Amino acid sequence: MKKTMLAVVKEKAAPGVSIKTVPVPKPKKDEVLVKTVYSSICGTDIGIYDWIPWAAGHIKPPIVIGHELVGRVIAVNSSQSTAIKPGDLVSSETHIFCNHCYQCQINNRHICENMSLFGIGRNGGFADYATIPLKTTWKNDPSIDVETMSVQEPLGNAVHVVTKARVSGKKILILGLGPTGLCAGSVARAYGAKEIVGINRRDYRKKLAKKMGFDRVESSITPKEFNTFDVVLEMSGNPEAIRAGLDAVRIAGTFIAFGIPKQKVELDWGKYLINKELSIGSVFGRRIWETWYQTTDLLKNKRVSLKPMITHRFKLAEFNEAMAVMKSGECGKILLEA
Ligand SMILES: [Zn+2]
Ligand SMILES: [Zn+2]
Repeated sequence: MKKTMLAVVKEKAAPGVSIKTVPVPKPKKDEVLVKTVYSSICGTDIGIYDWIPWAAGHIKPPIVIGHELVGRVIAVNSSQSTAIKPGDLVSSETHIFCNHCYQCQINNRHICENMSLFGIGRNGGFADYATIPLKTTWKNDPSIDVETMSVQEPLGNAVHVVTKARVSGKKILILGLGPTGLCAGSVARAYGAKEIVGINRRDYRKKLAKKMGFDRVESSITPKEFNTFDVVLEMSGNPEAIRAGLDAVRIAGTFIAFGIPKQKVELDWGKYLINKELSIGSVFGRRIWETWYQTTDLLKNKRVSLKPMITHRFKLAEFNEAMAVMKSGECGKILLEA
């Protein structure tokens, strides 16, 4: 086996990354070592690249970034018995839970009180090889297409959002058509929604949404559609979109918040949260492992296809070029080939 590898490293507390040769990591106790097959760029990685305040608060350089990947297991360093064996194709759950806190004890490991993040709080997957904690390693169903295995994070988020919203037979509005919003349309379709409308200003994303199963995609919500949606899924974090969504949802409808605003949001609390008597929920990440079983079921049984959403492929060494496309917004998911 090789001793060194290529990796995308956040070396300094400043914008940009270094693409450099580093030693292949050794799996610590209860970790697996994988040969990365594909990794994919997440919106979070843009903030890390640009070194926004959130990134500065979560990352202590130097760190190998990247948290969405599929890799082939090379070694498992554990004395416990595990279903994960060398040769398996695995993905990583980004939320590394502690297993001890109150939330972990009550089966809410995805919102662990002591959470650390793969590719953010520790070395991640934009590299030829990666180590993953055994407890956050997901063994993929081999019938699923390998490229798709690396983009299960946004699908998982979407499954969690759509499941919470109970969409069967309902008219759905999805605000924001980034990868998670796009996936939410496909999942809502698979789970029996009656009509799915998306909102996004970019033509590129509108076209993608059509391919992902949306009935209709608009640039904005007009007053004639206020109070007409049974369910609103807010995937953008845009304050204007949040308010439009609260206008669009019908009285006693359901509103699920997923997109994280960059600033505080001002709302007419009485008008929306009291008078409309809404069911309001929020989602942070994927339930471990319940959501992953649901995503597997959707992919394996071909009820959802993520293929139309994978629009670009780059070599790991071309990370800066890939990031430029990512930032342009003229893309779906971008894969990096290790
Ligand atoms: Zn992500
Ligand atoms: Zn915990």
